[in-house]
Amino acid sequence: MSNHYDIIIIGAGAGGGTLAYALAPTGKRILIIERGDYLPREKENWDPDKIFLEQRYQAQEQWLDAEEKPFDPQAYYVVGGNTKLYGAALQRMRQEDFGELKHVDGVSPAWPFPYEAFETYYSRAESLFKIHGQQGEDPTEPPMSADYPFPAMPHAPRIQSIADQLASKGLNPVHLTLALDRRQNQPEHSPCIRCDTCDPFPCMLDAKCDAQTACVDPALTYDNVTLLTNTLVTRLLTTADGRRADRVEIKTAQGTETLSADTVVVSCGAINSAALLLRSASEQHPNGLANSSDQVGRNIMKHNHSALIAIAPEANDTIFQKTLGIHDYYFSGPLQDYPLGQIQLTGKNKWQRLKSMAPANMSQATLEYMVQHSVDWWITTEDLPDPNNRVTLTADGQIKVDFTPNNLKPHQELISILEQHLKDLGFYLFWHKRMDLAVFWHQVGTCRFGTDPHTSVLDPNCRAHDLDNLYVVDASFFPAMGAMNPTLTIIANALKVADHLKSSL
Ligand SMILES: Cc1cc2nc3c(=O)[nH]c(=O)nc-3n(C[C@H](O)[C@H](O)[C@H](O)COP(=O)(O)OP(=O)(O)OC[C@H]3O[C@@H](n4cnc5c(N)ncnc54)[C@H](O)[C@@H]3O)c2cc1C
Ligand code: SF4
Repeated sequence: MSNHYDIIIIGAGAGGGTLAYALAPTGKRILIIERGDYLPREKENWDPDKIFLEQRYQAQEQWLDAEEKPFDPQAYYVVGGNTKLYGAALQRMRQEDFGELKHVDGVSPAWPFPYEAFETYYSRAESLFKIHGQQGEDPTEPPMSADYPFPAMPHAPRIQSIADQLASKGLNPVHLTLALDRRQNQPEHSPCIRCDTCDPFPCMLDAKCDAQTACVDPALTYDNVTLLTNTLVTRLLTTADGRRADRVEIKTAQGTETLSADTVVVSCGAINSAALLLRSASEQHPNGLANSSDQVGRNIMKHNHSALIAIAPEANDTIFQKTLGIHDYYFSGPLQDYPLGQIQLTGKNKWQRLKSMAPANMSQATLEYMVQHSVDWWITTEDLPDPNNRVTLTADGQIKVDFTPNNLKPHQELISILEQHLKDLGFYLFWHKRMDLAVFWHQVGTCRFGTDPHTSVLDPNCRAHDLDNLYVVDASFFPAMGAMNPTLTIIANALKVADHLKSSL
């Protein structure tokens, strides 16, 4: 029986890590299987050369686009998953995002339950990830049953001055809701030092609340929870009647092995979870596991993202920059009666990051000047589920992502609106770049949940319609994702699934 577990969770990222954390106190025998290792804590964590020029921690893997051209996905296979390098801006979706919303390119479909049925899980997720925020300044803020656990991270002087100027133009600049372990009134006792290498770097001090530090590490303090690293799950196997996923095939440096469990939870990230289910096709499930609806891998979304670098004559000496957001255009614009999206600051740019966007002949000195004078923004617009945007496997098992972006008009409009505001504030040069296919940071939707087994893969508790004991708790479940960053919703949903499992196990 040593290879048998009550619950096997595949993937130690936001979804899987949170579920392990929430189920650990049940005493159930839980195994977390993670293909990667711990991300090393080393000086290179904060070295922009290593992060932007050498992609030191990125997965050594290629995926194929629609034309089967390989690309290097910005994915991180480590304990904590993609959250190890995330920007830690954890946001609630808006109340309206749970209903149907009309966009330029179509309709963002409703979730199978309203915001009110989910709200308390957001509060629990905010407590778990030590969210810093300020209630009451955001006109789009949904109802909250509990205040943020920590006060907002204050703006640096340059950012405060921009916030004040935007406010004087009638906007409602907000403090971003951030998952960092920082006590503003006791900085000397705070793990977080508000450094300039947070987004998108790993935290050398373990002061960023990510899926490893906030969830996996605490879960492992329980004797009944075990973590296997450097272990790739290659297939899921079922009972003869096809109703239960009872075994998990793993590959390690030592070879291939099979483990068994009463409950199997897939949480490999939206693209890898779809790939694993498709790879697990069998006589009982010829189109792939949990795929009688033919929806596994379809409807993938990733947000329309652009970086906007705005240059002013005035130098920007901000160290920790990611504190400000603008949500005034989330549901409509000055001339638009449809949603445009959200605006937030990024971590302070480095010349090495700009180099990846710049024309090849631009000198390092020019890039350094730009970085000294820039304020760096990140613009996000919702994209819509399209069944033709899908993950499949090639005959030799490679991941192929056939993806055509949609809803780009409001995205472009939002960029123009922000540029106009910043021009009024004295910025004179703008550089924006829309993120390409490799930036699959916000991948969601490949196993969407719903009540109809013909049009969804999972039921609203994230159990596969086709099986009795198979769950998916990563970002795959989103039927629509709004324009807020997705990870707080992934964490909240995993806490909800944990409650369901606790009552049903
Ligand atoms: C640079 C960057 C910045 C970001 N910034 C933000 C932000 O500020 N705010 C926000 O909300 N979101 C942000 N995100 C997105 C966020 O990281 C993801 O939404 C979140 O991590 C997704 O959670 P998940 O559980 O779906 O997958 P992950 O967290 O990616 O976890 C999946 C895990 O499964 C493992 N795995 C995959 N396949 C297998 C297999 N076959 N066998 C075993 N293990 C497997 C992976 O190694 C990984 O650990 C950012 C992402 C990146 C990359
Ligand atoms: S700002 Fe804080 S949490 Fe982020 S990398 Fe620096 S010390 Fe870590």
